[in-house]
Amino acid sequence: MTKAGCCIAFLSGKCSARTRFLATSIAVILLASSLPLGRAQKPSPIPSGSVMQASSNEQNFPPLLLQQLSAIKSTALNDDYAYRQVAHLTENIGARPTGSPQATAAARYVADELRRLGLEVRLQPVTVPHWVRGAETAELVGYPGMATGTTQRIVLTALGGSTSTAPEGLTAEVVTVDSFEELQALGHDKVAGKIVLFNEPFDKEKAAAGYAFMSYGEAVRYRFAGPKAAADLGAVAALIRSLGSADYRLPHTGLSLPAGIPAGAVTSEDADLIVYLAAQGKVRMHLTLTPQNLPDETSYNVIADLKGSEHPEQIVVVSGHLDSWDLGTGAIDDGAGVVIAMEAAEILQRLHLRPARTLRVIAWMDEETGGSGSKAYTAEYSKDFPNHVAAIESDSGAAHPLGFSVKAAPAAMEALHPVQSVLQSIGATMLQPTTYPGADIEGMSSAGVPTLSLMQDSRAYFNYHHTAADTLDKIVPSELRENAAAMAVMAYALTNMKEPLPH
Ligand SMILES: [Zn+2]
Repeated sequence: MTKAGCCIAFLSGKCSARTRFLATSIAVILLASSLPLGRAQKPSPIPSGSVMQASSNEQNFPPLLLQQLSAIKSTALNDDYAYRQVAHLTENIGARPTGSPQATAAARYVADELRRLGLEVRLQPVTVPHWVRGAETAELVGYPGMATGTTQRIVLTALGGSTSTAPEGLTAEVVTVDSFEELQALGHDKVAGKIVLFNEPFDKEKAAAGYAFMSYGEAVRYRFAGPKAAADLGAVAALIRSLGSADYRLPHTGLSLPAGIPAGAVTSEDADLIVYLAAQGKVRMHLTLTPQNLPDETSYNVIADLKGSEHPEQIVVVSGHLDSWDLGTGAIDDGAGVVIAMEAAEILQRLHLRPARTLRVIAWMDEETGGSGSKAYTAEYSKDFPNHVAAIESDSGAAHPLGFSVKAAPAAMEALHPVQSVLQSIGATMLQPTTYPGADIEGMSSAGVPTLSLMQDSRAYFNYHHTAADTLDKIVPSELRENAAAMAVMAYALTNMKEPLPH
């Protein structure tokens, strides 16, 4: 089959899983080749036919600045600062769930480290929720073909914000649905008193083809809103099929809307088991989840400035989030993002490069359970947003960087062509328009601040995301260095290009 033929079959829904994968890959390649400076292309920083843009880029990026950007990149590619910092966060401090002593210890640690680099550091108090995991067990206690006197263990974990069962658990029949529509069609009579299992599979083919965040977006709505929808129809508990691209019987946690009923995620293997048995007859589950919603705590965003020499009032933000889920140690989500941002400051200090505008490193608190850190920043600093010339976040792991997704005026994209040229040698050249740059910079983005998100190879991200396997070994040091290089180069370009990025 020709490439075009496969694509047409793909569009009409008539190709096999294998050809669909190939077609998607081809679509990715075609898309990449249509983007300015896809990895396979030669650098051509001058957009065709845009002589005016070329000359304005030359004024914006004089030769000295381009040399400095190259030096920053080379330094980052030989720097283990970010790796040492993320190792401390994950191994010495550990999991950093919002409201935990570890999360606050991490904020104090990062603040101290940034002070040590010579930055002006502030801990901004943030009131955060404090949810803690309890017991989490489940067994099937009735199902077709059950051997007398036995049960089958179900592997699951509580979803963030879940309420508790009684300490002895609850026992109820499980009803399985593939969609919200199917749940609504069952109605109150068939849902009340039951445990609802949402069996939306994570699309592994999209993930393997580089569209993992699309797979996540399609499935995460069941994690987020499923328990509430089930509770509204009288369910006594709600379960979802774990969101993830690897099947090692690991449950994936994450935030859920408050539903007033216990809510958990079973592994995809256990979801398959329950669906298989439920097709044959009644399935009953004994479920024990005993998490607790404790009183709110005070925690902190870390806000650290390397003051600009010419325009100290103008601010470029580089950021990641400090809080993590509790199952793993928050290496790829998002210790990596924090240390990538920290290293941007470390490199400038090491090279004695003073930014012309202020470089502001932010380690956000509470991205995972409601974004109270981001909201607190917006509440206090929104009056300064006209002086925030750009904001970057990294919250997609630590794998090889592909470039940046960008929410900014089209002219801003063109103004960044010289940065693409500098990053060509590590392949981080994509500037992909987006409408949603990231959770923690959304407040700035909504106020018109140009926002960028470092875009990593996401194909393996959801193998580990929000699981017990989000640990330091998943970070490849050389890839973390590439990310730190991309972030530091982009950050210094934004602080030192003559004209700030157009709003
Ligand atoms: Zn994250």
